[in-house]
Amino acid sequence: MSVTQQSLSQQAIDLENKYGAHNYHPLPVVLNRGEGVYVWDVEGKKYYDFLSAYSAVNQGHCHPTIINAMMEQAKTLTLTSRAFHNDMLGQFEKYASEYFNFDKLLPMNTGAEAVETALKICRRWAYEKKGIEENEAEIVVCENNFHGRTTTIISFSNDPVARENFGPYTKGFIKIEYDNLEALKHTLENNKNVAGFLVEPIQGEAGVYVPSEGYLSKAKALCEKHNVLFIADEVQTGIARTGKLLAVAYEEVKPDILILGKALSGGAYPVSSVLANDPVMSVITPGSHGSTFGGNPIAAAVAMAALDVVKDEKLAENAYELGELFRNKMNDYIATSTICKLVRGKGLLNAIVINDSEDSDTAWNICLKLRDNGLLAKPTHGNIIRFAPPLVITEEQLLDCVTIICNTLKEFEA
Ligand SMILES: *Cc1c(COP(=O)(O)O)cnc(C)c1O
Repeated sequence: MSVTQQSLSQQAIDLENKYGAHNYHPLPVVLNRGEGVYVWDVEGKKYYDFLSAYSAVNQGHCHPTIINAMMEQAKTLTLTSRAFHNDMLGQFEKYASEYFNFDKLLPMNTGAEAVETALKICRRWAYEKKGIEENEAEIVVCENNFHGRTTTIISFSNDPVARENFGPYTKGFIKIEYDNLEALKHTLENNKNVAGFLVEPIQGEAGVYVPSEGYLSKAKALCEKHNVLFIADEVQTGIARTGKLLAVAYEEVKPDILILGKALSGGAYPVSSVLANDPVMSVITPGSHGSTFGGNPIAAAVAMAALDVVKDEKLAENAYELGELFRNKMNDYIATSTICKLVRGKGLLNAIVINDSEDSDTAWNICLKLRDNGLLAKPTHGNIIRFAPPLVITEEQLLDCVTIICNTLKEFEA
């Protein structure tokens, strides 16, 4: 790496630091190209992407099918707003509703907006269908959740960094322990005003926490018993990431409200959606909710192409098989490791836990070394490193990555 090339990265980083708000702490690497499982930095160095933009790029970077659909639509019609109909939205709504087996879809742009939408639908349903008294509805959420960054959503986060000095917070949420059925049961039995239970089938941001087997199906049964909507936030776990089309499919759970985002567009464009059946979705009436860009023709074209790719290339099956392989290989390594405590996850949503205190910078330093060795990943919550490559990864590439990860970890063994 020459001195001038090195300064290209530094120049880009300096620009962001000077002119951008400091709301992220990125790994020092500056990317300018992506294809499939690979990204390249401005110096031309190639990396495996093991974050996939937080699972938005499940279909791989710049997938030709998705990019072509986007370019064709961009040349034809980009935005009408919902003041008028467009000829793509209905096609997308039909396609995705049938794909995920719901009556209806409501399109938004980002994950947080889709979560907000689901909360609004749930509250309306509480008043108009369940008969809860005005302004009394409660929604149960889990500790260590991550559902986005809006004022309401951070109101029920327990991450102090996400909340500090952003109050006053939105009321109407009850927080219980994740993966604790007794806590859910107790809460539902003692609060007649509960309208919904919002849950991530695997807590991604918190550090890829996989709940006990049976948690989701039993939680769903409890919700049914108490006439409470089961709201699955599959923004990160959905669309083949965990080895099934949806993570709730492992327990054959059908959510009352399904929230999707991220890979719904394969990372090409912000597209999110809320899906529900008619008895729930019918509470939404003209004027009661909306978004200028939600359901625009480019989003519709991109999302249909992105969902096509997931089926055509059997990405769920690939994630399932290669996920097993990845955890097996990592467990072989961990058996003789002191620096790495464990690997957990489902499909290709996995994390390793580093054997050091939560506030140590070991995981960060490992990620810097992984970068040097050609693989990009980022710590989530201190000593946990998430590994989530694009689902188009091949077995050969995955084994190559396991070698990179194990060789890097070896440098940190005592
Ligand atoms: C990323 C994420 C969100 C928020 O999505 P944005 O597009 O960043 O607003 C919501 N829920 C989960 C589970 C996520 O992983």
